[in-house]
Amino acid sequence: MNGWLKRGGLRYRLLLSHLLTIAAGALTLLTITIIFAPGLHDQLMIAWLGPHWTETADASMVEMERATNAIFTLAMIQALTISSGAAVTVAIIVSLVASRQIVQPIDHLLQVTRRIAAGHYAERAPLIGDRELTRLAAQFNMMAEALERAEQRRVALIGDVAHELRTPLATIAGYVEGILDGVVETDEATWALVLDEVNRLRRLTDDLQQLSRVESRQITLAPTPVDPAHLIEAAVTRLTPQFTAKNIELHVNIEQHLPPVWADSDRILQVLINLLGNALQYTPGGGRVVIGAEHASEAIRFWVQDSGIGIAAEHLPHLFERFYRVDKSRTRATGGAGIGLTICKGLVEMHGGQIWATSAGPGCGATFYFTLPLYGQHE
Ligand code: ADP
Repeated sequence: MNGWLKRGGLRYRLLLSHLLTIAAGALTLLTITIIFAPGLHDQLMIAWLGPHWTETADASMVEMERATNAIFTLAMIQALTISSGAAVTVAIIVSLVASRQIVQPIDHLLQVTRRIAAGHYAERAPLIGDRELTRLAAQFNMMAEALERAEQRRVALIGDVAHELRTPLATIAGYVEGILDGVVETDEATWALVLDEVNRLRRLTDDLQQLSRVESRQITLAPTPVDPAHLIEAAVTRLTPQFTAKNIELHVNIEQHLPPVWADSDRILQVLINLLGNALQYTPGGGRVVIGAEHASEAIRFWVQDSGIGIAAEHLPHLFERFYRVDKSRTRATGGAGIGLTICKGLVEMHGGQIWATSAGPGCGATFYFTLPLYGQHE
């Protein structure tokens, strides 16, 4: 019985539950009939022949009373049997139809789950069945979509990392082969170039490690109330020599009496240095960069504005994606792998803030913004 139930699953359970309900109903009715039918019959006789009919009744009347009583009970039992039979037939049909409506979509969902588990991430469950099942299938499809996107990102990441490693490795291999063949001199300049490429590899692996830690939220923040002006001043102090060397004006524009933000100052300093470093990198000599902070509802908005090469509108939404570079060849020559802004985004979002960029287009400079919650307003 148990094995039969398990094999049949929902269909048989549904049928069994219907049959049990019918059996309980029929049994109750039968008991009530047996208990109450004679009484009812007696009442009928009294109604016909008066309350004292038994005193005046002869043997044949009593016999007739017994016979009608038996027929009355039999009729009730027959009616009960026929209606129970009809109910059982209806129960079988209803359980078959209902279980079909439930089992079929679940079967589909199961098949799709198996296909996805086998690596076919593009599979989707059909939206069939009752409202709850359609909602379940829709939710399942959303999950499948997220899995598919994650898988695509994973594959793209492996490709990007391999691509980024290939360039410096090919350059190092070129120098070393040239040295071995005697066509490249083994002087200080050559070793300096090789060291440049090695450092680029080291930076890349450091960035990748940090990226993975930021993206998996493995970094533990140590937030404290921090004065926004202190953060900006620290970043400016760090980069002023490079701005002077490249002949770019660096201005600071901080709104007065800003309340403290709730931040891990080392991490936010890293974000500011990254944005300021980018402004330095993408602004030609003679240009101008302004860094500032202002009050913005329940947050402080930091910004870095430059008069540099600017960014075309179509690139703006992608700047914070991993390995995204507007001009791939040029930035590779200057060392960026397109990870810095992704790390910034992760760090800012870990603080509960947002980061974005604006630009009026190529040649018109760019402004990068990010917000941090005020001390006391953070979650
Ligand atoms: P990278 O290390 O290549 O600079 P980022 O993640 O910091 O990587 O930046 C991604 C891309 O965004 C850069 O390659 C560059 O194309 C663009 N970008 C970043 N900052 C600026 C800026 N201030 N002006 C113009 N383009 C910028």
